[in-house]
Amino acid sequence: MSAYNTMLVAIDLTEEAPQVLEKAKAMSVAHGANLVLVHVVEPVGYAYGGDIPMDLTELQTQLDKAAREQLAAYGEQYGVEKTNQIVTVGRPESEIHRLVKEQAADLVIVGSHGRKGFQLLLGSTANGVLHGTECDVLAIRIR
Ligand code: AMP
Repeated sequence: MSAYNTMLVAIDLTEEAPQVLEKAKAMSVAHGANLVLVHVVEPVGYAYGGDIPMDLTELQTQLDKAAREQLAAYGEQYGVEKTNQIVTVGRPESEIHRLVKEQAADLVIVGSHGRKGFQLLLGSTANGVLHGTECDVLAIRIR
């Protein structure tokens, strides 16, 4: 029996995402594990703190649509079936914690840093995932 049955790979859709996906795919093949691909769209309202008096629903819908399209393209490229491609809206750490439980994942794979954590050893999302998840966490070193 393999050490891991379900691996959840969280990607931020930056140009660094393929580095994380390559390793996640290789890990899932090596373990014969189910691979679940996740992207969390951050609510547009967070960025503006609710200061802008306008309806951001359309912008949020567009971001969600773009994320689904990008995830579908990665899904096809890395052989992840549609039912294992998940796009949700919320705070990345919290959503990843929730999805780990929902999907009964036993390994979470993230990049060591992304846009927000460029100067840090572990980006804020990677750090948040590590500290709030009960299963193992693998941080792929972003080059
Ligand atoms: P960061 O905290 O931005 O430095 O990102 C570190 C890693 O966390 C990224 O390489 C991704 O694996 C993951 N991550 C960051 N943001 C998201 C997001 N919105 N959805 C899914 N995963 C994310």
